[in-house]
Amino acid sequence: MPIRLLSSEVASQIAAGEVVERPASVVKELTENALDAGAKNISISIEDAGRTLVEIADDGYGIPANELELAAARHATSKLVQSEDLFHIQTLGFRGEALASIGSVSHMTITSRVAAATEGARLKVDGGIAGKVEKVGAPVGTTLRVENLFYNVPARLKFLKTDVTERRAIDALVTRYALAYPNVRFKVTDGKQVTLQTAGDGDRRSILAALYGVDVAKQMLEVMAMEEGLSLTGFISPTSLTRSNRKEITFFVNGRWVQDYSLTTALLQAYHTLLMVGRYPLTTLFLEVDPEDVDVNVHPTKAEVRFRSQDKVFSFIQRSARKALLAYTPVASVSPQMWGGSRPVSSEGREVGIDWSIGHDSVDSEQLTVDSEQPPTDNHQPTTTNSSFASVPLLRLIGQIGSTYIVAEGPDGLYLIDQHAAHERVLFEKLMAQHDKKSIPSQALLAPEVVTLPPQSAKALMPQLPFLKHFGFEVEEFGTNTFQVRAMPALFAGGDPSSALRALVEDFEEDETPLQAEVEAKLAARVCKRLAVKGGQTLTIEEQRALLNDLEACTSPRTCPHGRPTMIHLSVDTLEKQFGRKGPR
Ligand code: ADP
Ligand code: MG
Repeated sequence: MPIRLLSSEVASQIAAGEVVERPASVVKELTENALDAGAKNISISIEDAGRTLVEIADDGYGIPANELELAAARHATSKLVQSEDLFHIQTLGFRGEALASIGSVSHMTITSRVAAATEGARLKVDGGIAGKVEKVGAPVGTTLRVENLFYNVPARLKFLKTDVTERRAIDALVTRYALAYPNVRFKVTDGKQVTLQTAGDGDRRSILAALYGVDVAKQMLEVMAMEEGLSLTGFISPTSLTRSNRKEITFFVNGRWVQDYSLTTALLQAYHTLLMVGRYPLTTLFLEVDPEDVDVNVHPTKAEVRFRSQDKVFSFIQRSARKALLAYTPVASVSPQMWGGSRPVSSEGREVGIDWSIGHDSVDSEQLTVDSEQPPTDNHQPTTTNSSFASVPLLRLIGQIGSTYIVAEGPDGLYLIDQHAAHERVLFEKLMAQHDKKSIPSQALLAPEVVTLPPQSAKALMPQLPFLKHFGFEVEEFGTNTFQVRAMPALFAGGDPSSALRALVEDFEEDETPLQAEVEAKLAARVCKRLAVKGGQTLTIEEQRALLNDLEACTSPRTCPHGRPTMIHLSVDTLEKQFGRKGPR
């Protein structure tokens, strides 16, 4: 075929593919336009999950009749003149592409009126072909009606998911914009039913309830942090509230919804080791950055941004979220009511018969004063040696039961400690502290151990060999699927090298997007688990005492690195109630 210029309609349809992927993309673009126009009320109507109709009416400043045609043209925008303007951009839109794109793949009607005009004007665009501007009666503001999306690009229609999924995408989008703009009243109507309505009174909590339900909204922790040139507000879930994927992690940057990998990573680091492996928080966070410090023009749907000082933003997010998390995490010896009145659940997931309080990562007020100027710290790294910082009280050893649990007394009652989980935590914090100092003492084995692994595991281990070295392991390939362990971290002296090696590769699943720090911590947690004392292992009094002391020194003594509790606590109060000394009989 000879080379030829595409007709403008075809070119528009192709370009539309970048901006308009599904009904929710139309909702996004039109909502952003309404917000850019300073609307205080935005009404969104949809039918058939947006396939047959998306209509967005706003009370913004409107489009003058003589500019209507231009508004619908490609590269027509009132929001920027020169490319440098991008770095001062205060609006969500700037490319002048949305209306042209949407108009090329639907029947679009724009009706608008500016306050200075006595009448409104209307323009229809059908599959990219604009009609004539007509005068009509209309309130001040703009109504964009988009009918039969993709009617002229059937291939696109085929890519749409079920109505339920498309609907969900629209809801997720509008609710998040409602959260980002709590002073704007949003109303969504699906068919005849109003499915979302916000008050526009600035109260984000109530919108949060629309997004997650009242129960979840109540538990969400508020984040509010500020630093030169940066501010972070919004909500993050406590460690007890998680999801199995990252989909509920939402970030807005300067009022724009972005999917940014590094922001998510920073956030996850704030939760580091507080969540079970494979669990993720729910968050809606709003980051404000000086427009000059962020490039918003790096992605077709503007879903990604680039920061001038990525590290600074990263560490700010991590510290701010961490602080909020620690500030709200229940303090030592949680009362059963703090668990929402429900019975705590044992580590195996069974309900515990009496009101035991399950150990929960906690801090006392001193941790809240952690200086925000400090370099980002992970929880595995003790930030101070002050003993009042320990979040378990000083414990008096009573003894061991069932060769599995250590019984101890604290000022506030009885503690039952799972020796395995506790030891896991202790080893993990020690190992990570050494790791952060980049010095994990290694100890050569008297006799190097040769370990043969199943082919799959051997394959998984190969790429890990360099980082094993950072962890004080010296492991070499020693024939097919066979390795020789020559040295181990001194911390694990006496541990079984082959068991350690197997732990490293067991169930090794590649994270969708592996992150060095995350992978390392995971591996460390895995080895610690394998080499920690087991249940059923009798410990001497000295060993029991040493374990308690080490646990007291941990930053997060109440959970193992996988997030399971290390201890349960029976308060004096509970004892008294159980024995009928107090409260109703
Ligand atoms: P962009 O938002 O990138 O400028 P659009 O294609 O989305 O491009 O819109 C083109 C222009 O039409 C905008 O710059 C704005 O001037 C005008 N416009 C679009 N929607 C509205 C609206 N709801 N209210 C007022 N003006 C609007
Ligand atoms: Mg726009």
